[in-house]
Amino acid sequence: MWPLFTLNRPLIWLGMLGLAALPWAGGVGSRLTAMLLLGLGIWDAWRASRQEHARRALGEQVMLASEDGIMICDARHRILTVNPAFTQITGYSLKEVRGQDPSMLSAGRHDKAFYDRYWQSLNSLGKWEGEIWNQRKQGDQYPEWLRMQAYQEDGGKVKHYVGLFTDISRHKAREQDMQRIGFEDPLTGLPNRRRLHELLGSRLRHLRAGEGLDMALIDIDGFKSINDAMGVEAGDRLLARFGQRLARYVAGGVVGRLGGDEFMVIRTTTFDDHDAWVAELSDHLTAPFEQEGQSLRLGLTVGSCRAPDDGRDSSSLFQRLESALYSAKRHGRNHHQRFQPALDQPGDRQLELVNDLRAALAHGGQLELHYQTQHSLKDGSLVGMEALLRWRHPRLGMVSPGDFIPLAERHGLMTPLGGWVIEQAINQLSHWQQAGLPVVPVWVNISALQLIQGDLESRLAACLARYQVPTSLLGLELTESVLLDERAGDVYPRMTSLREKGHQIAIDDFGTGYSSLSYLKRLPIDKLKLDRAFVRALPDDKADAAIVCAVLAMAEGLLLRVVAEGIETPAQRDFLRDQGCPEVQGFLFSRPVPASEIEARLSGRNSTSSAGNMASLPV
Ligand code: C2E
Ligand code: CA
Ligand code: CA
Repeated sequence: MWPLFTLNRPLIWLGMLGLAALPWAGGVGSRLTAMLLLGLGIWDAWRASRQEHARRALGEQVMLASEDGIMICDARHRILTVNPAFTQITGYSLKEVRGQDPSMLSAGRHDKAFYDRYWQSLNSLGKWEGEIWNQRKQGDQYPEWLRMQAYQEDGGKVKHYVGLFTDISRHKAREQDMQRIGFEDPLTGLPNRRRLHELLGSRLRHLRAGEGLDMALIDIDGFKSINDAMGVEAGDRLLARFGQRLARYVAGGVVGRLGGDEFMVIRTTTFDDHDAWVAELSDHLTAPFEQEGQSLRLGLTVGSCRAPDDGRDSSSLFQRLESALYSAKRHGRNHHQRFQPALDQPGDRQLELVNDLRAALAHGGQLELHYQTQHSLKDGSLVGMEALLRWRHPRLGMVSPGDFIPLAERHGLMTPLGGWVIEQAINQLSHWQQAGLPVVPVWVNISALQLIQGDLESRLAACLARYQVPTSLLGLELTESVLLDERAGDVYPRMTSLREKGHQIAIDDFGTGYSSLSYLKRLPIDKLKLDRAFVRALPDDKADAAIVCAVLAMAEGLLLRVVAEGIETPAQRDFLRDQGCPEVQGFLFSRPVPASEIEARLSGRNSTSSAGNMASLPV
């Protein structure tokens, strides 16, 4: 150690000079001076030794206390010593690593170029700093942040290498978690909305000639009630299983969850079978889930679109999917709607459609009412008809009411449009009356906006009076959401007065809302229209069958009539009849048809249609 600290300590040199001069010093003064110099030298050497000792002790303490791993290597890059943190991080004791090259710790993840850069930096700059993957004695690999420093002798030759490193595996894991949270839905492990945007963008960029993208947005019907009935945890498990089933089915495609009970699917394809694809997908997903000892069959509402036909960039395709889903939901549950240009008319084009609707209202000719018959299940006799609005757009063709009614509601056209429907239906009734045809009540759909904005009651009364049609022939269909819409104020007294005037009132789409039984009990209504979502899977779906039976029993208790909607098969009809459902409406009996067709049937002129001979339907 001497040479190390004597070089820069002049007092020691002076002391050595004094020692050398002592034998030669003649006079007392010279001897004293030489001795003084020697004394000073000895004192300085002692002090230097103390300082070095303290420094070493401090160094050792720092090594001991450091949470960073420290290793000191010799010039040949062999480990001389390590600190306890080194042992803690790597699992190796000093004994095990002394004399070894630190490369013994390598996880083998870095290539030759990496180590070339490492040595180049260490040799030219005297240091290297960066992330490096090592392997612990226990075998697991981990990333560390390493700072390696070369310490040189005066001559510039490297004497030691000192490495300081921190285990950053936890930090890295957190970083990965953060990344996962940013892009992955934690419940299902599927891509989230943000990631789906990216994936869609990338799929679009990689589309080759002749290829297209099929996309579907899937919403589970009534998931809230599943959550309420089974508990949130079971609901979460169901969502995760739903996601798994979907992902397995769409192998090679993209499946993600947008949140809540909304899932998205994308597939690249050369087929042009979009609707069949969605239908198969829905079939696969509506197969029952066995959960908590129950067999659960889910209803699904699907909005879909196809690229490049319906759009070329990910954000407009997303918008279109959402507007298709929104429109599908307006049709009730268990419905698939592919995007139609009329559904999504941003800015000018939407205004254009609204203007077209306004013009259609003003000039007539494009709007029509179609009628769908309702039948008694006892004998098949005709008991009523629902009036359904149709718009024959000159350019777009038939536009579905599910699409243009929301537009009319948003743009203040619902009151005149609803008014037109009322007038048209009453006019038609009066025409049939005058023609001496057997007339049954016609039911019209009433939008919340008609209750909120227009003077519905006086319009109805004036119109019925003008055409001399009895009030009892015009039934009103209100959905649960209309009744619960606060903007309409307290609808109870208004419904009471409408009924007192002779109107019949039905709750439309019954079962899709959340009205409580006690609420229903106090409502002045005549009829429940059981939503077709409950009818669709009859008679096989046990849950739906149970719901239908419960609704029928409840309605009987409340003295309400029930009409079940959407009957398409004889099996559905037979089940409903066996359960005592009094009335039905659906494609099995008749699709909505123009007034002329109804007239032909009423007069018995047309016997080819399924409901042609309505009095003796094969029920
Ligand atoms: P909604 O009141 O539930 O009408 C029944 C819908 O179910 C009609 O669709 C009808 O065509 C369809 N449907 C009837 N039987 C069957 C069947 O067996 N199977 C299937 N899959 N569907 C069946 P549409 O005519 O497209 O009407 C859709 C919705 O538009 C109506 O649903 C109603 O909410 C609204 N809407 C129609 N006309 C009017 C109207 O004049 N005023 C108002 N406010 N809304 C209307
Ligand atoms: Ca209706
Ligand atoms: Ca309905």
